[in-house]
Amino acid sequence: MDRRHFLSVTSLMGAGWVLSPEINRDHYEDSKSGYSLPERAQKLLDAASKPAIKQDVLPLNPVILESVELLKHGRQFLVRVRNNEGAEGIAVSNHLILRYSQSLFVETIAPFFESTDARLVEKTIDDLYRSSYLTPSTYKWQGIQFWSCIASIELAILDLLGKLVEKNITHILGNGRIQEEIGVYRASGNRGNAPEEEVDFFREQVEAIGAKAIKYRLGARMHYTDDSTKRDRALIPLMRESFPDLTLYSDANGSYDIQTAIEMGRLQEEYEYAFFEEPCPFDHYDETRKVTKALDMIVAGGEQEFSMRQFIWQMDHNVIDLVQPDIFYFGGLSRSIRIARAAESIGMTCTPHISGAGLGFLYAVLMAACIPNAGPYHEYKGVDQDLPAESPGISFIPQNGIIRVPSEAGIGVQIDPDFVSAAQHIVK
Ligand SMILES: [Mg+2]
Repeated sequence: MDRRHFLSVTSLMGAGWVLSPEINRDHYEDSKSGYSLPERAQKLLDAASKPAIKQDVLPLNPVILESVELLKHGRQFLVRVRNNEGAEGIAVSNHLILRYSQSLFVETIAPFFESTDARLVEKTIDDLYRSSYLTPSTYKWQGIQFWSCIASIELAILDLLGKLVEKNITHILGNGRIQEEIGVYRASGNRGNAPEEEVDFFREQVEAIGAKAIKYRLGARMHYTDDSTKRDRALIPLMRESFPDLTLYSDANGSYDIQTAIEMGRLQEEYEYAFFEEPCPFDHYDETRKVTKALDMIVAGGEQEFSMRQFIWQMDHNVIDLVQPDIFYFGGLSRSIRIARAAESIGMTCTPHISGAGLGFLYAVLMAACIPNAGPYHEYKGVDQDLPAESPGISFIPQNGIIRVPSEAGIGVQIDPDFVSAAQHIVK
């Protein structure tokens, strides 16, 4: 970093500036008893407190956001940010959430970002989290809807910043661009079909993209039935017999109690599965922890977690073995990378979760490209046919189970300008 830039950034950020008002050390330290922060928790907190955006790569001058817009075209939601010189960044949001969260977005969250410096987006997000005393207030709005709105804006801001410095965002985030190609696993959204039908589905999908790994669903989602258990007991061995060379993952979406989760986990261990996702209801930390302790195989989770504190607590207390922050539900790439860093500090792998279709799979590819503890395969569920987007030189259909990491400036994706200009503006 040249000295002029260094001085500019340090004066801007303030000496010793770290993120973390959201991670309050008082929760770990008891000043009355003198209890001190255990080493493991300290490591997690330190790693999660550091900004994920590399300040030395950003523009020297402030990037003041003049507008933060929510656009809708068909079922797709886009977020467009512009600075006071007319440069813009764009993101494809999570339409499954934004269709219900539009008012929250335009009335409360977007105005908070207007007139802020885009370079300080991580600090702005921290400020927003604590802004319950402001009007409009964000008090008691914490949750997946709230953080998905913030993530959509953060992704558009990262696109803007990358374009301004003519770099892909992988050069701005985390450890910088450390991978050019990302392996994907094909995930199934099916549940309740016959085991043989699920095998047929995967034969076609594996063939289409050359996948080396797959993930399918177990249980009945947040509960199980006699029928779902019968299917699970048949499917676990059948998938291994049908795909002897593939890496197999399963996802119970919180279906099981402790005893059933352990039974299903033991069966997966017998057939050499690589991870077991959300065996118990996602917010039953103690149940999940007992399953994780009982099993030898890796238990994955975190896709529905939106609290930095809770995520750190889960890691600190061995609730899960592998972390899966959802880039939308958890509030964006920078927060998700901070979780990946915390995981790295204690030797855990991170496999970000994606939601909402759109470009979710590509945002996960970008994140995996700039963290050192990314898992070997990342989620892929196909592309939205109603979203005219492309990335020069990149196929959105994986080849040989791999997606190349976009390299153009910003997010590295171009959305058809006609599609954007024909979109409806969502206003208060
Ligand atoms: Mg899942």
